[in-house]
Amino acid sequence: MLTQEMIQDAPSLPGVYFFHGASGKILYIGKAKCLRKRTRSYLHKTKRRPFKIKRLVHWTTDVQYQVCQSELEALFLESRLIKEHQPSYNTALKYGRKSWYIRVDFTEDFPTVEQVSEIKPNTARYFGPFFSRRWTAEAIDVFHRIFPIRTCEGTINPHLEFRPCFRYHINRCEAPCATYVTKDAYQAMIADVVGLLEGNYAEVFTSLLMKRDSAAAALQFERAAAFQKQIERIQNVFTFLDVYRK
Ligand code: SF4
Repeated sequence: MLTQEMIQDAPSLPGVYFFHGASGKILYIGKAKCLRKRTRSYLHKTKRRPFKIKRLVHWTTDVQYQVCQSELEALFLESRLIKEHQPSYNTALKYGRKSWYIRVDFTEDFPTVEQVSEIKPNTARYFGPFFSRRWTAEAIDVFHRIFPIRTCEGTINPHLEFRPCFRYHINRCEAPCATYVTKDAYQAMIADVVGLLEGNYAEVFTSLLMKRDSAAAALQFERAAAFQKQIERIQNVFTFLDVYRK
C-alpha cells in the first residue's frame, strides 16, 4: 500500500514516477510538473476517486523517480517508458482517454510539426501517444521557439515574390515560402526536431555545435548566433544524460 514514507523524498521537480508492486514489477508510470505534489495527491482520499486508482494505491509497495530538466522532457520520457514497459495500470487507466500525437509530415518539402489526435496511414511520422492535450501543445510550442520552422497550414510553393507573414519578421520562421531558406537547410532543422522527439538529445546538441562552428568559420556570424540561441534553448529544456535509453 502506498504510504507517506514512500514518497517523503519525492523531489519538487519535473520528472517521471514509477509505482512498483510487490514483485518489483512496474504497475504505473506517470509524469509530473512537480513529482512531490503529484505523488502526494495519490494519498488524498476523495469520494470520487476512481476504483482503478484505489487499486493502484493499494498494490503499490515502492515508488521511484527519474528527474527531468523540464515538463517537456518528462512528457517524452513518460511516453517512451510506457511503450517499453507497458505497465498494467497505464493500460487500464488510459482506456477511454483521448491520446495525442506530434505529427511531422515528410510528404512535404517543408514539413510542419503539429498536434493531431489520430494516426492516418500515410508517410508522416507520428510521435506519442501523449495523454495530455495541453502538454503536447506546449511541447510543439517549445519546438517552434527553438527552431524557426513554419506554422502555416498546407503545402507551400516557395516564390521569391511571396511576402512572408509576421513570423518571419519576429525571427520565428525562416520563410521557406519566400525562398529565404533552402529545402536542405529547412529539413536539417526538422531532422533536429525528430532527433529530440526520439530522445537523441546529445546527437542533436553535437550537430548544432558543429553547425554553429562551421557558420562562424565561414564568417556567417548571424547564422552562428542563431545556432547558439538554439543550443541555449535546448539546454534549458532537455538533460543530456541519456540514462534511460538502452
Ligand atoms: S513566414 Fe512563410 S512559411 Fe513561415 S509561417 Fe509565415 S507564411 Fe508560413
